[in-house]
Parts: sequence; structure tokens; C-alpha cells
Amino acid sequence: MTATIAFIGLGNMGLPMAKNLVSAGHTVVGFDMADAAMEALEAAGGKRAGSASAVAMDAEIVITMLPAGDQVTDVYLGDGGVMKSCQAGTLLIDCSTIDVATARAVAGAAETAGLQMVDAPVSGGVGGAAAGTLTFMVGGADDAFAQAEPILSAMGGKIVHTGGAGNGQAAKICNNMMLGIQMLSVCEAFALADKLGLDPEKLFEVSSTSSGQCWSLTTYCPYPDVLEGTPSSHDYQPGFTTNMMLKDLRLAQQAAAVTGAVTPLGAESTALYAMHVNGGNGALDFSSILKMLRGT
Ligand code: NAD
Repeated sequence: MTATIAFIGLGNMGLPMAKNLVSAGHTVVGFDMADAAMEALEAAGGKRAGSASAVAMDAEIVITMLPAGDQVTDVYLGDGGVMKSCQAGTLLIDCSTIDVATARAVAGAAETAGLQMVDAPVSGGVGGAAAGTLTFMVGGADDAFAQAEPILSAMGGKIVHTGGAGNGQAAKICNNMMLGIQMLSVCEAFALADKLGLDPEKLFEVSSTSSGQCWSLTTYCPYPDVLEGTPSSHDYQPGFTTNMMLKDLRLAQQAAAVTGAVTPLGAESTALYAMHVNGGNGALDFSSILKMLRGT
């Protein structure tokens, strides 16, 4: 089944995702504040519209991939927003990474308007978006998930229904808090190994098959030239930027403050990545925090 899909937010992630929908045979009409993004969609076989409300008007499905909660609120609920123009029965899918409270507030407004909505943030980065192998974490009602799943399958390799509204965002920030903390643990170990005169390749050989092993070590080793194809072996070109990691850790801290969850390592990690960003490293891959710990 193909559909007419409005895609709003054609940035680093949104454009390749929208292109995969075009490749799957859907009619994709895009809107972005940047003209060049819409031109790129047109060149790939999509169409363009002049505003969020215009793009949503004739769509069966609206997908958003925007920077943060403010833009998501504005695009769905603002004057000239999606909810004012879309037709009854339109399915709304927000793939942006935003705070849980905003995700639930926008989903609540959709419910009040009689519209189905899911929050469906992704893991897998720009590479996964281009390859169509993203993991989607989806929060929303069962029937909304059932409608969204075949659409998301054109852009992803794994689609997980994580519960009700906002639970996609909850899964995303919990996962990325683990990632941020684990990366720091691996970096601290390599920084200590340096001081002890232990060859980083030997530490990798031991820990990658021992109790210290984790994704940050075995797939994404932060020490340069231990693994091929990692950001660390390419001058820390992202990958996943330190800015993005800090954004997600801050979302986790915001959620922890609201819920009273105890996340001291999450808090410390947030402070450390913020220092790294302040040092001018926000655009580098987040594994570059090893440089700060090594003082290089
Ligand atoms: P990006 O900045 O490249 O793209 C965002 C796009 O939204 C831009 O093209 C911008 O012009 C557009 N935009 C902003 N406000 C708009 C508005 N009001 N109306 C229409 N368009 C508007 O960001 P990105 O890297 O594509 O990330 C998008 C989302 O995906 C973020 O929430 C991010 O946290 C999340 N994410 C990113 C990655 C990654 O590796 N880049 C990985 C996972 C999740």
C-alpha cells in the first residue's frame, strides 16, 4: 500500500528518510525552511510545498523530523500548523528526538483533535537513515502503531512498540544516557592505560572479550586506529556529534528532574560532555571526549 506522505524537516536525517519513502513508491511532499533541502527532495522524485499547513492538507500521513521540542510544538500546534490543516484520519508520526513532556502534550492535543499520533525517534544516525536501517522506538496506541509500522519499515530495520505516547522518547533518552556513560567509562580506561604504558590495542584485545566489553568499545572504539571505520580513526568526524549527545543527555536529566529518578552518572556525564562542547568540540564525534580526558 502506498500513501501520500507529508514530510516536514528535510535535514541530515529527514532528507534520506524521505528519499527512502520515495523509493518505496510513496508520494512524498516535503516542507523545510531551507530551500536547498526541498530542491534535493525534488531531485530524488519528491514534491515540495510552501508551508507546513499546505504540505499536511492533502496527506494521509504526516512525518516530522525536526531539531527539538519547540519546533515540533510550533509545526503541529502553532498558527498555520499541521493540526489546523490536516484532514480527519491523518496519521501523525514525529521522528524527532524531543523531551517526553512535549511529546505527550502534542500527542494529547492530537487525541483531542481526533487524530492518531505516535512519537517515533530513531537510532542509527545519518548512515542508518541513508541505508534505511534505522531503529524506531515507537510510543502510541496499538492501532496508531499498526498504521505507522509499514511506513516506518520503508526507513528502518527494526521497529519496536515501546508503549503509550511519549514512550518512544523515553526509550531513546534512556538508551542514549547509557551510551554517553558507557563511552566515558571506555575513554577513562584508555586514558588510564596510556598513563600506565599499556598498549591501547592490548587493552582492546583483553576488554573486548572480557567483562568491560560494550558497544562503545567493540563497535565504536574511541582510541584512534584500534578499529577501522570508526570516527576515532578519522579525526573524530561524526558519526554522532558531541552536540547531539549533550542534547540527549540534557533531555534525560530534564526527565529525571521531573520524575525524581536518581541518575548521578547521567548528571556527571552531562557536565563532562558540556565541558567538551565548550572546548569547541561540539561538531566532533562524541567519542572525541577521549581527547579531553587524555589532555590532547
Ligand atoms: P538537522 O538540523 O540536519 O535537520 C532539521 C531540519 O529541520 C533542518 O533542515 C531545518 O531547516 C528544519 N526545520 C527546523 N525548523 C523547521 C520548521 N519550523 N519547519 C520546517 N522545517 C524546519 O537535524 P538532523 O540531524 O536531521 O536531526 C533531526 C532530529 O533527529 C533531531 O531531533 C535529532 O536529535 C534527531 N537525531 C539525529 C541523529 C543524527 O545523527 N543526526 C540521530 C538520531 C536522531
